[in-house]
Amino acid sequence: NSHSIEERRELNESGVSSSLSPTHRVWFISDTASHWHTLMTQLAYFGIAAEIYPWQNVPAAAEEPAILLLDMQDSVMAQACEQILALRKRFSASKLLVHTAQADFNNLKLLLRSGADYCFAQSTPEALILARIIELCSNEEEPPYRVLVVEDSLTASMSIQRTLKQNAIESFAVTQPAQILDGLRSFEPDLILMDMYMPDCTGVEATRVIRQHAEFLSTPVIYLSGDGDMALQVDALRLGGEHFLTKPFNPVFLNAVVKSKIERYRALRRSMQNDGLTGLLNHRTVKERLTAAVSTASAANSLLSVAMIDIDLFKTVNDNYGHPMGDQVLRSLAWLLKRRLRKADLVGRYGGEEFLVLLPDSDSDQALDVLDRIRRDFSFIKYPFKDSWFETTFSAGVAQFPGTSDAETLIKQADEALYDAKQSGRNCIITHR
Ligand code: GH3
Ligand code: MG
Ligand code: MG
Ligand code: MG
Repeated sequence: NSHSIEERRELNESGVSSSLSPTHRVWFISDTASHWHTLMTQLAYFGIAAEIYPWQNVPAAAEEPAILLLDMQDSVMAQACEQILALRKRFSASKLLVHTAQADFNNLKLLLRSGADYCFAQSTPEALILARIIELCSNEEEPPYRVLVVEDSLTASMSIQRTLKQNAIESFAVTQPAQILDGLRSFEPDLILMDMYMPDCTGVEATRVIRQHAEFLSTPVIYLSGDGDMALQVDALRLGGEHFLTKPFNPVFLNAVVKSKIERYRALRRSMQNDGLTGLLNHRTVKERLTAAVSTASAANSLLSVAMIDIDLFKTVNDNYGHPMGDQVLRSLAWLLKRRLRKADLVGRYGGEEFLVLLPDSDSDQALDVLDRIRRDFSFIKYPFKDSWFETTFSAGVAQFPGTSDAETLIKQADEALYDAKQSGRNCIITHR
């Protein structure tokens, strides 16, 4: 491999990561900078900016980094805890990751108690630390929770919305049951807070109407009711084990119940729509999204590009380095795509080592431009194997709408272009003409 680190950095700085996705800053606090060099280079390929500072020289920055990784391999425990305490005070919102030589139960307890978020034992493979950092950077982008409030009393509804807002939960209120379906479609909530008594309609009846619509079958409902109504509550339970809160509600409890329900709902949704290995949209979901994106583009007279990506000679990766290593390569391409594409772009795992990317409002030249930078950076990522490392590449085919009639044709054209890319030697991207 003939590329120097400087050359690679130049490739990373050639615009795409900075213009397309925000960079997350990671600080390494360590007196042995050389330990962290490879990890920092790897992070750069994922669009994550890392800096390194010696312990004596931690900058008193106005802007907090997202993550601090503290190299405490040579520290005594008491001193390490003091340093973590001090950093915790200074960087209240940052994640503190601690690399320690003393990872037994009691020491971990002390480090966590001092304010560490995660501890890595000295023997932790670099790939795992990398994975954790990337995961933390992605978690940060979890969109705010959204609640639809159905409540006929304006006073009650405002008080609920105030409580939700104080807990950083977004809400939208409807006062009449007949507005619920429109509210669900336009606001797309994670959860419904439903008054039990409304004129002409109980909360249970409203929920039954909602459940007639397949897209709202699993949206959780929490009822707000007076405490006496056993019969209605039993009815509600029959409809699927929903939760009750009694009025007047306790704000702390309301917040806790709403948050934990939404967490579970989002986890459930993820397991249905996302691929377990990579976390990307699964085959079915990405195809549904493509169909929807094509109708949107067609109605709005806008552009849409699609890319089919396929890892080159992936069978040899499995054969030479083992299936688990192959999985690691798949994850790393998934992360890279997620990190480097825009929020509006969609990525799915289309097949084993095939990925489908949708780029709304982009023509095929723009798509090619973005993906080709990702292709180059992907080819520089090093995977550790025994005492050495290996690299791998992908090929892709791009097609655009308009120019095609539907989702199927877009996929077919991208696939044909991918075939051409494989024929012309791999590690390249070709646009369908
Ligand atoms: P080409 O450059 O022509 O695409 O060569 P290739 O070896 O990538 O081609 P092929 O499509 O024949 O092989 C894909 C391989 O991907 C076969 C399969 O064993 C492997 N694969 C599919 N899914 C997974 C997975 O989830 N994990 C791992 N480790 N390997 C997988
Ligand atoms: Mg009421
Ligand atoms: Mg394939
Ligand atoms: Mg392949």
